[in-house]
Amino acid sequence: MSKQLELNKLLVKVLDIYCEPFDEPLNGDDVDDIVVHLKNQLNLLNGNITQDEFDKLENPINYFGGKDVEEIEDFETICYVCGKDHLTEGYHIDGIGESYCSKECLLREITQEEFDNWMKILEDNPDDPRAILYWTEWEATK
Ligand SMILES: [Zn+2]
Repeated sequence: MSKQLELNKLLVKVLDIYCEPFDEPLNGDDVDDIVVHLKNQLNLLNGNITQDEFDKLENPINYFGGKDVEEIEDFETICYVCGKDHLTEGYHIDGIGESYCSKECLLREITQEEFDNWMKILEDNPDDPRAILYWTEWEATK
């Protein structure tokens, strides 16, 4: 049996499993959620993505903590991830101009490996044009 045929046969079973436990039919949003989740799970199980990447896909960031972008006074001193504002210190990425209040927030956006690489570039030569991620301080704006 071809892989495609085998997958189709299995899919019918999977679809039954998804529909069975609910009294009401799944709506379009439910189906979208399931498909995204299924894709992430399959990619994780088959080693196409790391656990770290999986976690990020499953928990998308509500940028600036969900704040209305129109109401942000200063993009330099607001955490791109959690929305904590008037930061006096934090990580900053030159060029894209994003700031992060903490390593924890930064690691929602980049991987530990990327972080290590960027820190190494900075350590080796702070004047390296690729050294665009660094910890910095800002003057209090309020
Ligand atoms: Zn933050």
